Amino acid sequence: MSHSEDKELFEGKWYAHPVLRNALIAGGLTGLAYALGHLGFISPVMETALYAVAVPLGGYHWMREGIEEFIKEKEVGIEILMLAATIGSVILRMADEAAFLVFLYGTAEGLEEYTYARTRASIRKLLDLAPKEARVLRDGGDKLIPATELVVGDVFRVKPGESLATDGVVVAGRSSVNEAPVTGESVPVEKSEGMKVFAATINHEGSLDIRVTATYENNTLAKMVHLVEAAQAQKSKTQLFIEKFGRRYSPSVLLASLVLLVVPFFLGGSVKGWATRAVVLLVAAAPCALVMSTPVAVAAGIGRAGRAGVLVKGGAHLESLGKIRAVAFDKTGTLTLGKPAVSDVVPLQGSASDLLILAASVEKFSEHPLAQAIVRRAAEMQVDPQEPLEFSALVGAGARGTVNGRTIYVGKPEFIQELDVAVTCWSQVEGLRKEGKTVLLVRGDGEILGLIALRDEIRPEAPEVIAALHQMKVKVVMLTGDSAITADAVARELGIDEVRADLKPEEKIAAVEELEKNYGAVAMVGDGINDAPALARATVGIAMGVAGADAAIEAADTALMADDLRKVISALNLGRRARQVSRQNIVFSLLLLAVLIPLALLGMMTVAASVFVHETSEILAVANGLRMAGTEI
Ligand code: ADP
Ligand code: MG
Repeated sequence: MSHSEDKELFEGKWYAHPVLRNALIAGGLTGLAYALGHLGFISPVMETALYAVAVPLGGYHWMREGIEEFIKEKEVGIEILMLAATIGSVILRMADEAAFLVFLYGTAEGLEEYTYARTRASIRKLLDLAPKEARVLRDGGDKLIPATELVVGDVFRVKPGESLATDGVVVAGRSSVNEAPVTGESVPVEKSEGMKVFAATINHEGSLDIRVTATYENNTLAKMVHLVEAAQAQKSKTQLFIEKFGRRYSPSVLLASLVLLVVPFFLGGSVKGWATRAVVLLVAAAPCALVMSTPVAVAAGIGRAGRAGVLVKGGAHLESLGKIRAVAFDKTGTLTLGKPAVSDVVPLQGSASDLLILAASVEKFSEHPLAQAIVRRAAEMQVDPQEPLEFSALVGAGARGTVNGRTIYVGKPEFIQELDVAVTCWSQVEGLRKEGKTVLLVRGDGEILGLIALRDEIRPEAPEVIAALHQMKVKVVMLTGDSAITADAVARELGIDEVRADLKPEEKIAAVEELEKNYGAVAMVGDGINDAPALARATVGIAMGVAGADAAIEAADTALMADDLRKVISALNLGRRARQVSRQNIVFSLLLLAVLIPLALLGMMTVAASVFVHETSEILAVANGLRMAGTEI
């Protein structure tokens, strides 16, 4: 198989696959000719004539492919080796062996192309989980329409027990929804007004009215499926290496068998005997099983991951996941829930509510989870933030805004200190930090107005995930922009090996580089937007909870649809399995070559025997690769 990965995905029945179909017809013809010939029903000439029909028929596709590749790309592929062996057998008056070769090689080739196509297409079954019709609310009533006719802005109603046709935002109703088709997580998620919902997810007890945010063709599920399909076409490093090796190896096999042809003229011996060895060598030494060592395993592994809501963006990333020695986690939003809540408001002058109003006014336009927590608390206390006149986010440090003509900063104490004001409340800051809280200072008119402390709950699954990583002999590191004292408090609770705190976003890149130097391959796990540069720099960047966040999906090497750290373990395990399966296949196929080549050279094998062993081994390699599709993750 050299080019089947570039072909259209085959979606018909197995016997309709052109390569397989031709091989099987040729096989039938060959068997018939052989039986009738040996039983004396037809003459030897007739028998040979039937083989002469079977050979070009059975080999039509792969022979053409081999010749085209040879002419256009000047490359000697496996097909050329097999074609040369076929021609050689015919010249040596072994038409029966030639026909057998064509039958078996074509069958193995066809089966493998079919399997590979099916493996890649299997992710599409996910699309069938989204209903084909939707109950759209138009003109005061509801009406069933084809889901493809939904446009952005339409509102559709989903009754209890029904699945969602496409993505949207809940505009009315309350229910729990099983998001497994998209996230791989079957624990129902509570949905109410304003929340995002996804195509193919299953609505439980309530009725939901949903405003469409993406069309049927363009929803999260469809994007996931396309992404997985594209990823499966990306070759892994091992595969690229094997292909490169094959480009040198296959011509050498051809050359070696040509050398065997001239041996008798120098060393004596039977011309026909050496020619037969040359033909056997072509088959025995062809690297069929070797080239099939990885592609099926990788495609099956990526497909399996996709169905669990783990989007691995290509074979190279899958293999890298299997090599990870250290995992670096962002703290806020990754190890913690990312929904910090204000725990303390400590005014140094004025009232607590005045302090909160000022802070909330500045943070109103910030996307940062800390900012949103402050705004939320202000709303809870029913204090009305003002519109800041001017707002700017100071990434990794804080925010600034002009409120009632005063320039107010809210941010990290270290950053506020750098601004020029002497911070005199360090003991208060440290006291709160030791409790694992993040402390922000509010500064106005050149003085500190007060402290706001926030606490972010640790994700419930984090301790279990960190224990599992330790068991896998993987180092666990925390990278955070938060202060060392707060970070240490959280790290201690979780048993994290190493903490890098007070990092600016660009310093996280340097931290990842250093980890790579110390430990080897590093996975960075983050939220995909704040942490995009570090995710890009790591051996593998893993973005969490990306369902509905297209930019984050695009940026990461691996994207977890669910907001669940356990999927990191799934991804690493799957990578390890994929590497293991390819390694098994590679060792197996190299050992086989090491046995078959000497046997061929010593004249101890027939063409038929080497074809048989060879194609069986290729099918075994494919079958071994397919095991990836059923891996528990
Ligand atoms: P993390 O690495 O923990 O996700 P960030 O890099 O996003 O943190 O931010 C680092 C620190 O900068 C925060 O802990 C906080 O002190 C401060 N900070 C960043 N953005 C804001 C903001 N909008 N308002 C207040 N403080 C902020
Ligand atoms: Mg963050």
